[in-house]
This record gives sequence, C-alpha cells and structure tokens, in this order.
Amino acid sequence: MQRWRRYGTAYEPHVAAVAGCKADKKCQRCYCAECTGRFRETVLPQAVALLSNYPDEERRFVTLYLARFPTGELGHCDLKRESQRLRMMLARSDIGSAIVFGGIEIAYLAADRAYVLHAHLGVGGASAAPRKKLRKKLRKAKVPRAMDDRRLGNPLHQLSYSIKFPLYHRPGQSGANKARSYPLPRSVLLEVLQWYDKQKPEGLLFLYGLRWAGGSLKPTPRKPVAADIS
Ligand SMILES: [Zn+2]
Repeated sequence: MQRWRRYGTAYEPHVAAVAGCKADKKCQRCYCAECTGRFRETVLPQAVALLSNYPDEERRFVTLYLARFPTGELGHCDLKRESQRLRMMLARSDIGSAIVFGGIEIAYLAADRAYVLHAHLGVGGASAAPRKKLRKKLRKAKVPRAMDDRRLGNPLHQLSYSIKFPLYHRPGQSGANKARSYPLPRSVLLEVLQWYDKQKPEGLLFLYGLRWAGGSLKPTPRKPVAADIS
C-alpha cells in the first residue's frame, strides 16, 4: 500500500478504499487482504465439504484458458460474459448432476504484454464419458480450452489455489520449477486494480450446479439449457 501511495494520485482511490475498510462496513475490494481472506475462509471449507462427498475417481481439478487481453484492454474483459460462455459449454457436455466450484483469475504475462483470463475448477460427480466429451469440445473450441486436468486428490490445497486475487506475476513461469513471483509492475497495476473494482471477491467465483447466497454454498436444482442444440 505504501508502494501504491508513491505511485501517485491515480492510486489514491484504491488506497482509500482499503484504508476505509471497517469491521462494520467492509470494502469488498478484491485487493483488500482482509475482505478476500474472510471470503476465502467462509467459502473454502464449504466447497471442500461438498466436493469431498464424491469418490476420488469422480473428482477432478481442471484449469481452463478463457481469453487473452493485451495490456490496456483489460477493461473489455466482461467477467459475466466469460462465465456464461463457460457455463454453456459445461451444460452442453452433459455433465449432468456434476458440481463445479472454482475461481476465475487474470494472470499478467510480461513477455506477451497481455493478461490471460483463466479458471481453476474443482469438479465433483463427473464421470469419464462427459469429461471425454468436454475435452473434445475444448480441443475444437479456440477458447475456452483445457490447460490442465488432474485428480482432485487434496481438495483443501487445490481449491485454495483456485480462489486467489493475484497482484503479482511470475515472469519465469515457463521453466520446470515454479517461478518466483514479483509485484505487478506499475504500468499494469493500475489497470488491474480498476478491473478488480468492477468485481467483488465472490464475483470471481465460478459455480456450476451450486450457488453462493448469504454466505453459504448450496447445490442448485438443475434446469435443462434452452440453447442446448449441439
Ligand atoms: Zn476490505
């Protein structure tokens, strides 16, 4: 926050928002450690409990690439539209009564001068057939596409990774070892803070077959998707 102050007046609204976060009036900013921490503490144990109900072979942890935005164009990233597109793709894959809990986040790729919108998703109850169908769809679609699909063997650890609000980047990410993280450079930080201002921490959740209301995560009754013609 001291660093943001030094960056100049454009950062003042963001510094002030977090500084004004009070116990009885939370700021709900995605870059407030207090608000995001509280949200994670509330939602994660519920998600872990729900996904742990499924047998090991029906639990997956999937990372999907959703869209890319060059620096300066993050304002065009419409989270609702991207979530809806992903939801339709899941619905058309006949994943049936499966549930999906995860988060959407942006990663800044310094080498590309771009942001990658992606989702980390815990899936429960999807049998092999619809997952195969989904993988096939993802291969054909330009976006979203699968980046990674693995066992959800440690729900607490993996789901915790799915809900984060990064203000850092990993310039050396292509290496075999997990690259060190650095704070976002000043040139992109402001754009990221302004984009976060359009969301609330829970707005970055991605849910399918679940809903988040009044601080609790509940399964939703499933309706057939009208646009399902594929
Ligand atoms: Zn706050």
